[in-house]
Amino acid sequence: MRAPDVIVVGGGIVGLCCAADLARAGARVELLERANGVGEGASWGNAGLFAPSHARPIAAPESVRLGVRWMLRRDAPFGVRPRPSLAPWLVRFLRASTRARAEAGELLQRQLCMESIGVMRELVGDGIDVGFRQEGCLTVHTAADGEQRAAAEAASPAGVAQGARLLSAGEARALEPALTDAVRAGVLLPHEATCDPVRFSAAMAELGRTHGVTVRTGVEVHGLRADRGGGESAGVTVATTRGERRAGHVVVAAGAWTGRLAAALGVTLPLQGGKGYAVEWDLPAAPMRLPLYLHDERCVTNPLGDRLRITGGLLLDGLDERFEPRRTLPIERAAANVLGVRTRPRLTWRGLRPCTPDGLPVVGAHGRVPRAIFATGHGMLGVTLAPLTGRMVAGVVAGDPPHAALARLSPERF
Ligand SMILES: Cc1cc2nc3c(=O)[nH]c(=O)nc-3n(C[C@H](O)[C@H](O)[C@H](O)COP(=O)(O)OP(=O)(O)OC[C@H]3O[C@@H](n4cnc5c(N)ncnc54)[C@H](O)[C@@H]3O)c2cc1C
Repeated sequence: MRAPDVIVVGGGIVGLCCAADLARAGARVELLERANGVGEGASWGNAGLFAPSHARPIAAPESVRLGVRWMLRRDAPFGVRPRPSLAPWLVRFLRASTRARAEAGELLQRQLCMESIGVMRELVGDGIDVGFRQEGCLTVHTAADGEQRAAAEAASPAGVAQGARLLSAGEARALEPALTDAVRAGVLLPHEATCDPVRFSAAMAELGRTHGVTVRTGVEVHGLRADRGGGESAGVTVATTRGERRAGHVVVAAGAWTGRLAAALGVTLPLQGGKGYAVEWDLPAAPMRLPLYLHDERCVTNPLGDRLRITGGLLLDGLDERFEPRRTLPIERAAANVLGVRTRPRLTWRGLRPCTPDGLPVVGAHGRVPRAIFATGHGMLGVTLAPLTGRMVAGVVAGDPPHAALARLSPERF
């Protein structure tokens, strides 16, 4: 078998977008995924939102405040399971959680989200069919002071930057008739978009294949070795459960598991799995129209064809993949309260978001191992930022002038 130019490790939406863009730019690409299919990690059960409104990094003063307040609540939407291995990550998280850094990170990520939606629109224009719609997302407030909170959200700098429109409960229900009387006010965010994330992964894998990507599933990477020095023949050796492969470059896009592979290359990437849950129902008789952010329940809802998916929860818990049934109960309560959904769900799911301590993604090479490019740490925005990440990574491998944001996303910051 001829050696590929680039091996991409990880067949989540980030790795798939990188592989497709690298191949479209002319590289011979092989993608290795340990599962039996692609898109089965966090990229499977997410809400499928392209969400500039979620651009604020998790490292922010309010996350620290809420984290402390919610520490003792068993069904809190945000939490940390204390364990010694989490300590260094938490120290970095606390250091990054200043107001100034959170604001700078939010501004950067909002710009990247908008740029990535532009790339996604091009992909849709090129023919990928993933149920992409840019018709906005409705934030709904149910707390007793929901009207004031919605007004503050719409008038905030972030709301103004996103063209947010304040809605009364009646106006919100006119847009989304499925909303119950629990809703007190809404904010329409017109630039948000949505897709079916399962179809998105499948479509990017297909796009890659049509441009020559070899997708090998059931192949786990357990070691990476980069050649010392540069030169034409320099490259990376990838040790897998099916033997060794060599390539000129490796793109490490293994989601929450990327830290271990980075360590094999001598690079520190502090990543935690941010466990989230999804619950899915067959759509009620009156189909929903819009994706929703349930502000007070901290859940996102997205109608996906004949089913309704609601996601929620962020538990920093290492790489623990255990499914805890009680964690889906707040999502089911939110569905009943805000949408009147009282039927039994058709499925429940959990997945690990790759979370960096400063809440920003990692995209780019490390000076010590220039042939290895990391693409991970997208946290709550992996779907939103995957199209742009693919473009950035293909640019790095091609040696194009670097995207202006790459300096801030560099793995060297840790
Ligand atoms: C509940 C929930 C809701 C979310 N909602 C949204 C949303 O609405 N919008 C949004 O933008 N984002 C959302 N996200 C975040 C988004 O899903 C993730 O950021 C994104 O899927 C990460 O993609 P990835 O490719 O980096 O990781 P993954 O999808 O986890 O893929 C990593 C892949 O690497 C493979 N792998 C790992 N190690 C190895 C190895 N050693 N060898 C070979 N393969 C390996 C894994 O099997 C996996 O398939 C949500 C996440 C969750 C959990």
